[in-house]
Amino acid sequence: MAFLDQHPELGYPVVAGLGLLVGSFLNVVILRLPRRLEWEWKRDAREVLEEPELYDPPPPGIVVERSHCPHCKTPLSWYENIPLFSWLALRGKCRHCKAPISPQYPLVELLTAVLAVASVWRFGFGWQGFGAALLSCYLVALSGIDLRTRLLPDQLTLPLMWLGLIGSLDNLYMPAKPALLGAIAGYVSLWLVWWLFKQITGKEGMGRGDFKLLAALGAWVGLSGVLPIILISSLVGAVVGSVWLAMKGRDRATPIPFGPYLAIAGWIVFFWGQQIVDAYLRFAGLK
Ligand SMILES: [Zn+2]
Repeated sequence: MAFLDQHPELGYPVVAGLGLLVGSFLNVVILRLPRRLEWEWKRDAREVLEEPELYDPPPPGIVVERSHCPHCKTPLSWYENIPLFSWLALRGKCRHCKAPISPQYPLVELLTAVLAVASVWRFGFGWQGFGAALLSCYLVALSGIDLRTRLLPDQLTLPLMWLGLIGSLDNLYMPAKPALLGAIAGYVSLWLVWWLFKQITGKEGMGRGDFKLLAALGAWVGLSGVLPIILISSLVGAVVGSVWLAMKGRDRATPIPFGPYLAIAGWIVFFWGQQIVDAYLRFAGLK
């Protein structure tokens, strides 16, 4: 770590390469974790309802099974599995059946690499930079899963919150007290919005995973960052949401996943929260 810190010309490419590799793992998580969860929920539901045992083979695991073309199922050789570059070299098509390969793969790999480099650029080649990169990876996986399936699995949001709290014990970004208060404020604020919306309209306007994601982000940005996350995510959500609806011309009632907006806002506040608050105070003439 100290060596890379003194030689950033080596450090940044190393981190970018690792980011591409981790990004290709995140693609697998985004695709396979929700299927695995759904399979477990159905199995548990059958057990609770005392329905007869059913032959239902589990979907592929996240770590063990090799990647294959989703169309023709041909296993990928190592040179077809190089993050980003294989997709570019194959021009987004399977080598065997020529079926198009989703641009999600290179996009997630590239995004992870960019966020990892931004993490060490902002926080250095140490535990702070590593933590920021880890947070970025969780946010990429959660956003991808929410966009595809409208789920924010507890299996990701809860460990992310614990990691933020555990880091604060050792004062990684802030002391434990603001981190814990941030987690509480994050959960309670969105829970209140959800509860009020339900009292007024009788509908559930938000997934419960959103509370847990904001609780997790609160543990990373601290109490003072929770309100900026809510404001920025609402702003980004309003802009992207109206562009999306205008483009797709969909019914206004179409639920749009909120997780990606929380993730984007959380990332911005975690990286530049203090600068944003200072700039705002100067702008408002309060500083
Ligand atoms: Zn194929």
